[in-house]
Amino acid sequence: MSNPSLLILAGDGIGPEVMDEVKRIISWFGDKRDLTFDVSEDLVGGAAYDAHGVPLHDDTMAKAQAVDAVLLGAVGGPKYDDLDFSVKPERGLLRLRKEMDLFANLRPAQCFDALADFSSLKKDIVSGLDIMIVRELTSGVYFGEPRGIHIEDNMRVGVNTQRYTEAEIERAARAAFDLARKRNNKVCSMEKANVMESGILWRDVVNEVHQADYADVALSHMYADNGAMQLVRAPKQFDVILTDNLFGDILSDCAAMLTGSLGMLPSASLGLPMANGRPKAMYEPVHGSAPDITGQGKANPIACILSFAMALRYSFDEGAEADRLEAAIEKVLADGARTGDLMGPEGGTPLSTTQMGDVILEALDASL
Ligand code: NAD
Repeated sequence: MSNPSLLILAGDGIGPEVMDEVKRIISWFGDKRDLTFDVSEDLVGGAAYDAHGVPLHDDTMAKAQAVDAVLLGAVGGPKYDDLDFSVKPERGLLRLRKEMDLFANLRPAQCFDALADFSSLKKDIVSGLDIMIVRELTSGVYFGEPRGIHIEDNMRVGVNTQRYTEAEIERAARAAFDLARKRNNKVCSMEKANVMESGILWRDVVNEVHQADYADVALSHMYADNGAMQLVRAPKQFDVILTDNLFGDILSDCAAMLTGSLGMLPSASLGLPMANGRPKAMYEPVHGSAPDITGQGKANPIACILSFAMALRYSFDEGAEADRLEAAIEKVLADGARTGDLMGPEGGTPLSTTQMGDVILEALDASL
């Protein structure tokens, strides 16, 4: 059997810096766990614009479609702020998501005990937190037609349309239920069925999918505004939260901050299964290209490394190896390893990006 394949798109700013550490981790799994990946690399975002005049070359898009999973760093930066909208770095990312049809965005909010003090909430509310938000990513109000700004009665009117088909809701629901079965078997679906017809349909379809194929998973429903409240009141009541594109955008950022630093947050975007059974998939940290710290060795590589751990779990069915990598990260944090973004008021000397990679590799060695 051939090795699983990965396309690395490191992108701009700190993207290449954090991705360098991920490449060392990938090599470690090849050397020490007999888990070898065929890795190729290409350009995305501003880096692709500089080389090709577009934020994603057609050849790169074709490669992304052909591999088992894409690992992305970050895109963007001040150098590209004045570019035309059609060639902005972010368009490269959006093209990948759209053409790979990555409809399920998975955003875990996991609180490592050693970092519980970083949360804006009390330690006992977030300590041990481990929830997953499944956000529908390719439809809803960000894409619905009609949209635009027009004049009515001599006044400007702004219009966006929330639109979901049954099929779009069904596949997002299936992604959430499948995921729950690999976790604590609980899904809470969030919408605004009290005031939106699309919310009524969302709830109906989620119930239908549940009754037909996932009756073993515990399902509850919540209005999204109450969901936001519950997330900051008692987040540990949730396992998997399923929600639409708009509410998911907001709820996942809210959940993210429960856990502290942007430098710690991974994500996965999954599509339909390919011929080999693996889902179309792209893994990327939640953070951007961090121009304020680029080139200084200050970036925290953990969000990007945790994104690779998600790839191990969701693309390659290597849950035990994903656990090993996450445990290594938990251990170095418990031992006090900190990049600058994780420094508390007590101060100390932060580790560089590479030094954080070093200690994680040491912890991986110690796990053998
Ligand atoms: P950002 O996430 O790049 O940075 C926000 C703050 O968090 C900065 O102070 C930064 O130094 C810090 N930070 C982020 N990641 C870090 C890490 N790994 N380690 C340590 N500190 C970290 O967001 P921004 O400043 O709003 O945007 C900068 C650029 O990134 C913009 O061009 C924006 O469009 C782009 N962006 C890209 C993505 C993406 O590629 N998915 C996401 C968000 C923003």
